[in-house]
Amino acid sequence: MTFEVLILGCGAATPTSRHNPSSQLVNIHDKLFLVDCGEGTQMELRRNKVKFQKIQHIFISHLHGDHYLGLLGLISSMHLLGRKSTLHLYGPAELKELVELNLRVSQTYLDYPLVYHITDEKRQIKLFEDKSLEVHSFPLKHRIPCTGFLFMEKQKQHKIHKDIIVEYRLSPSQIIQLKKGENVETNRGILTVEQACILAEKPKSYAYCSDTMYWERLVDFISGIDLIYHESTFLNSEKERAKQTYHSTAEQAAKMAALLGAKKLILGHYSSRYTDLQPFIEQAKPFFENVILADEGMVVAL
Ligand SMILES: [Zn+2]
Ligand SMILES: [Zn+2]
Repeated sequence: MTFEVLILGCGAATPTSRHNPSSQLVNIHDKLFLVDCGEGTQMELRRNKVKFQKIQHIFISHLHGDHYLGLLGLISSMHLLGRKSTLHLYGPAELKELVELNLRVSQTYLDYPLVYHITDEKRQIKLFEDKSLEVHSFPLKHRIPCTGFLFMEKQKQHKIHKDIIVEYRLSPSQIIQLKKGENVETNRGILTVEQACILAEKPKSYAYCSDTMYWERLVDFISGIDLIYHESTFLNSEKERAKQTYHSTAEQAAKMAALLGAKKLILGHYSSRYTDLQPFIEQAKPFFENVILADEGMVVAL
C-alpha cells in the first residue's frame, strides 16, 4: 500500500534558486495530504503532476510566512479550476482569519466549502481518522505556536488460515480474537496468532517536525516512528543562532531522531546562507546513520 512523502519545498524562510519554502505532499493509500504550503507550492505540484483537486486536506504547522504564504494562491486556483468538493484546513486558530480576510478583500466567493480544524501547540490532537489511518498534530518548540503532524497507519487484521479454523473447531469469537492479534485457548491447548495466521504488515508512521528547536519532550508524542522529517536550519557553527531563533542544527536533528527511535531521518528547512549541503550529512551521521537530505521533487517511500 502506498505511503510516501514528496518534498515540494525544503528551504527556510527565504526562497533561493535551489529551494522553495516548506511544503510536502504525503500520499497514504492514494489519499493526498498537503503539509505546509509555502510560496512555490503550486508550481512544484504542477512540476510533479499532482492534481490540485485530489488534495482534500491541508495541514499548516504555524503562521510564519514560509509555511503558509502559498495557501491563498492554491485555494484560489482550486476555485478557478472548478472545485466543488470540501477542502479541510488544519492549523492555528488565526489561519481562518488570514484566509477569510483575503477572500473578503478580494471579493472571492468560493464554489466549494472550506472547513477549518484548529490545532493546539500545547497538546496532541487527533485531526483526521478513517478506517486505515490517523493524522495527529503535536506540539513543537518554536518562537510562535507551532505543531508537527504525525501520520499513522492503523494495524490491519491478521489473516487466519482456513484449515486451522476447521482443525481447531474455532468459534466466531475465537476467530475475531486471533485476527486482532490475541492468542486463544482451545481444547488442544493454546493456539498462538503466529500459528494460526498470516501476520498483517506492521503499521507505518511518519512525523513532520518543522519548525522547532531541539526539544526532548517530543518523545512523549512521536516515539518509535518509521520516518521523521526534522528541520535542520543551521550547521554547528550557528548553534547559538539556532537556539535564539528556536531552530535546530543538523546534529540536533540527528540526536532527536536517535532519541525517538526513528528508522530514517530526512533533513530540511536549510538556511539560505548554505550552498553546499554536504556538511549537514557529515554533522548528522555520527549521531544517526540513516539520514538523507530533502530536495524538491524527491519521493521518500516507507
Ligand atoms: Zn520556517
Ligand atoms: Zn517558523
